Amino acid sequence: MFRKLPSNLAPTEECPGLRVRGGTQYTRSQGDYVCGGCGAKDHANGDNDVKALVEDYTGNHGPAHRGGRR
Ligand SMILES: [Zn+2]
Repeated sequence: MFRKLPSNLAPTEECPGLRVRGGTQYTRSQGDYVCGGCGAKDHANGDNDVKALVEDYTGNHGPAHRGGRR
């Protein structure tokens, strides 16, 4: 049964993708991804780690799986 999840929840196997939340003066930025291509998942805290997470996802997962590259 399909459940529509609030957009602030982390991605899941059923709903893969990349989510990044910017930090505030009280919290650090956070990022999560679940790759729909290979099932890899990761989580990061802090600007530098989130930036690396986004680069990993965009370079190696998600859309990078299209076009025959694995
Ligand atoms: Zn992947």
